[in-house]
Amino acid sequence: MSINYDIENIFAKILRGEVPCDKVYEDEHVLAFNDIAPHAPTHILVIPKGKYISADDFSINASAEEVTAFFRALGQIIKDHHLAQKGYRLIANTGEHGGQEVPHFHMHILAGEKIGPLRVKS
Ligand code: AMP
Repeated sequence: MSINYDIENIFAKILRGEVPCDKVYEDEHVLAFNDIAPHAPTHILVIPKGKYISADDFSINASAEEVTAFFRALGQIIKDHHLAQKGYRLIANTGEHGGQEVPHFHMHILAGEKIGPLRVKS
């Protein structure tokens, strides 16, 4: 665990069962649930169960088993929700400039309509 990991972040509370979530997938290393404020008809958050803050923290410090489990789960969720044919967008907001609100690594899956252009400036 990174020394900077905030164990009181909302996803840590969900993982500990202190806050409910609308779960769509779970295995030994991964949890996925519907976003509470969806930006698309399908808006799923996929998180590792390990205490990783960001995509870089996860990709550098997680075990090979955790990294594999995360991306296998991502693919399984996309398959289970039949998202591949029409397409989807994956987003991992990171840090201040990336607009990350919850400091536990997560991947957004957005789908169900045209998500629109990727804006690099707002
Ligand atoms: P980010 O800005 O990438 O950190 O995204 C955090 C996401 O977590 C936002 O889309 C929120 O709507 C979502 N979120 C925050 N709290 C919850 C919760 N309790 N259950 C589900 N999603 C949540």
